[in-house]
Amino acid sequence: MQRLQAFRCELRPNGQQQRDMRRFAGACWFVFNKALALQKERYEQGQKKLGYAGLCKRLTEWRGGLETPWLKDAPVQPLQQTLKDLERAYKVQRLHTRIAHCRKDDLHKATTTISQNHAMVCIEDLQVRNMSKSAAGTADAPGKNVRAKSGLNQAILDQGGFEFRRQLEYKLAWSGATLIAVPPHNTSRTCPCCGHVSKDNRKTQAHFQCVQCGHEDNADVVGAIHVLRAGQARLACGEDVSRAKSAKALRAASVKQEPAEVSQAEA
Ligand SMILES: [Zn+2]
Repeated sequence: MQRLQAFRCELRPNGQQQRDMRRFAGACWFVFNKALALQKERYEQGQKKLGYAGLCKRLTEWRGGLETPWLKDAPVQPLQQTLKDLERAYKVQRLHTRIAHCRKDDLHKATTTISQNHAMVCIEDLQVRNMSKSAAGTADAPGKNVRAKSGLNQAILDQGGFEFRRQLEYKLAWSGATLIAVPPHNTSRTCPCCGHVSKDNRKTQAHFQCVQCGHEDNADVVGAIHVLRAGQARLACGEDVSRAKSAKALRAASVKQEPAEVSQAEA
């Protein structure tokens, strides 16, 4: 059996060693920043980014040059490691950028297809910005479960819900189509057959089964049916559907419009 074991040791450097370590660390920072500035300069001039070997060559020049001769006093290995760290930081950044591009591309394809093939689109008015509000709270009212919530926030923002809606909104406007945002109230727990509302209808995240009439379906399909019905109802009522309103404002709008219909009928 192979056993891997780690040991943690505490170094106790004397005064001179402590001063040297601080100097070496300072030299590492200097090399990191100098190499980063060099790469930026090359990028701005349209030149190719230097690889690790190219940077090491520059490091040798810097150590042997007249400008920064004190770099020679620091051991070369940590300085080289610094250049490797810079390289890795660039690779991680590139990967993140690539993922972001792929995501945006997918969103654009989806929103373009939807806006070109539909005259009316109904969406749940999920308040992405509200849902992802800072979990940390304030000094007077600190947030609860901050770590879990900030994880959720990242997940919500990663889903691109806000960007999806933003793109859908302007693309539908371009093609003269209508976007209707409906409040997400009970859309996932109401039975589309008998109208029974219960959180027990939603057995799991994916499955819907009505506890009253037994109707079964995919939970997302059930949610979509309600969103469509609510959107059609709003369109039929002639409410201002061009922008989302809070549930309270919507109720007020519905109430306000009744006397108008009555007076129309009287006239
Ligand atoms: Zn039912």
